[in-house]
Amino acid sequence: MLKKSILNVAIPTPVKSLFDYSVNSESKIKPQIGQRIQVPFGNKKRLGFIHDISSSSKVSKSKLKPFLEIIDEAPIVDSETRELIKWCSNYYHYPIGSVYSTAVPKYLRDLKYPNNIEHKAFMGVAEERKILTKAQKKALKESEKYLKNNNVLLLNGITGSGKTEIYMRLIEKELELGRQALFLVPEIGLTPQTANVLTARFGDLVNIIHSGTSPKTRAAVWVAAQKGLAQLVVGTRSAVFTPFSSLGIIVVDEEHDQSYKQQNGLMYSARDLAVVKAKKLNAKLILGSATPSFESFFNVKNKKYNTVEINKRVFSTPLPENKIIDLRLHPITKGLTKPLIKDITKQLGKNKQVLIYLNRRGYAPLTMCEDCGHIEDCPRCDTSLVLHKKINLLKCHHCAYQKTQPPLCSECGCNNVIVGKGTQQLEEGLRDQFPNEEILRIDRDTTRSQKKRELAMELAHSGEAKILIGTQMLTKGHDFPNLSMVAIINADQGLFGSDFRSSELFAQHYLQASGRSGRRNERGLVVVQTHNPNHPLLKKIINNNYKSFFDDSIKERINHLWPPFYGAALLRAEATNKTKVFEFLSKISRFGETLKNQKTLFLGPVSSPIERKLGKHRGQILLLNKNRKKLHSTLNQVILFIEKNDINKGVRWIIDVDPIDMS
Ligand code: ADP
Ligand code: ZN
Repeated sequence: MLKKSILNVAIPTPVKSLFDYSVNSESKIKPQIGQRIQVPFGNKKRLGFIHDISSSSKVSKSKLKPFLEIIDEAPIVDSETRELIKWCSNYYHYPIGSVYSTAVPKYLRDLKYPNNIEHKAFMGVAEERKILTKAQKKALKESEKYLKNNNVLLLNGITGSGKTEIYMRLIEKELELGRQALFLVPEIGLTPQTANVLTARFGDLVNIIHSGTSPKTRAAVWVAAQKGLAQLVVGTRSAVFTPFSSLGIIVVDEEHDQSYKQQNGLMYSARDLAVVKAKKLNAKLILGSATPSFESFFNVKNKKYNTVEINKRVFSTPLPENKIIDLRLHPITKGLTKPLIKDITKQLGKNKQVLIYLNRRGYAPLTMCEDCGHIEDCPRCDTSLVLHKKINLLKCHHCAYQKTQPPLCSECGCNNVIVGKGTQQLEEGLRDQFPNEEILRIDRDTTRSQKKRELAMELAHSGEAKILIGTQMLTKGHDFPNLSMVAIINADQGLFGSDFRSSELFAQHYLQASGRSGRRNERGLVVVQTHNPNHPLLKKIINNNYKSFFDDSIKERINHLWPPFYGAALLRAEATNKTKVFEFLSKISRFGETLKNQKTLFLGPVSSPIERKLGKHRGQILLLNKNRKKLHSTLNQVILFIEKNDINKGVRWIIDVDPIDMS
């Protein structure tokens, strides 16, 4: 047998392959898989990871260069993490070297090594546990039963059912046994609440990593978790790559949340990776939500996942009452109708807090001239500009383009007319109506800095701000004790979306928003403004029947061969020249016809819904196949075809597997 002496080194480059190096006989450290290594690359030095060691290479012996230096005595990427990285590279069709860049903290990729985090043994919880309600007790028992065989568990508990308490009990069990736990949340900066609850319960055992964490701390947590020193890691998306020496359980809270999917570079889903990771590490996995993703529900339907339901709220307050305001009968001023104003007044009179939900920031989503119909749009992106009134700027929400609002229509010179509503305009309307109330708008524009964000959240949670205005950012998992009413300003915006997921998203946003109301003693109220009060979907959602909404909607998905029934991948191309985009995509769809036996559907090429972005024309093909394996084999052949025939000159292309943003 040949001695294994060829190092396959992963280096972040746009190229798919690994790079081979021979052993440097002067090296004092013996090469091992998972170590960082310095290698010659062109006429530069590069840092890479030893991904594998093999006995032969396609590179001829004379061309094979020895490595320069091994950085680590012991591997810093363990074999399970390496397997996860490999899985990612295959599944998302992304160069393996670049997957390392996403998975491994930057600090470690910069040749540094953090200090150790001190190990703290689990000595019991820091605060007293809550006494479980009957419904929680039952759910916990069932969960434990299902988790025994390490199958994925979907905890589907309505808003306010006390899911966090269940997660904490399950985590505690694992900690007691000396095992580690990973808790994933959608966005810590916006919802510090869950992290705070966990910290109160588990004290300094909690290691939090999120977008604001320093690179050094991030790396320290990574290393400590790998050595088994960090026992409980709480983090956003990328925390799923944290290595563990003895992982007992992963919790994915609000598993339906779209921010688990990265939208650039390696477009991975942290929720889906958590499933793969739990399997590899033989850990328990619990996905929790009041409004599960169709993907997870479908897996329950197909008996791949187990499920436990909680249909009672902790404070036994029933779910809120729903009330529809028919916009065909009531005129709107700055987002508000008379009956809505009356309802808000009534709640404020009882000294309660209200939340006004509108998933559109800015003042007006588009400005249109009444005379000539001219719409101000972004010269680079073909999307309408959003008016931000305070600063008098028209902004593109897709790129950084902005310009001052022209005083007159730039086409015909008459007065600009504002149509459509954003949170800013709503705020203005509410200030007109309620000049003496504390009004607080929370969206990405008002919470750019961490300080502003924290202050806003404090005012909202203390109940000091009586009227909260917000986008979906404000509805994620918050628990406002004194909030008694939620108003949905424009349901039509969600009911008539452009892609097959629009209704699922709307139902999730609606129920998450309405779930903020009446979480304590008194039953809450949800007021919905719509032009379509009889929309069947709206009726289902209003009756809080998410499950039956799913049962109906999934039939449609099955009929149309949409995900999760079929697996999907989006191939998107961009170029300065539109013809180039379509030439490229047409070649691919013609190639697709030669792959008939794979039964992959090639839908397109079509222009992307946002036809132009940052000055580039955009087009796409959607690939669908019921058989995921075949979908991936088609993708591999498509990629090979592109690379072999060099058809992508001047075209930037990407593949997005399990896409959620098709715009
Ligand atoms: P969910 O995530 O299911 O919407 P939470 O976990 O946020 O619900 O719980 C809602 C509220 O109920 C929180 O304020 C939580 O502290 C409280 N809570 C949960 N379980 C109990 C319990 N058994 N006894 C008292 N309060 C509880
Ligand atoms: Zn733009």
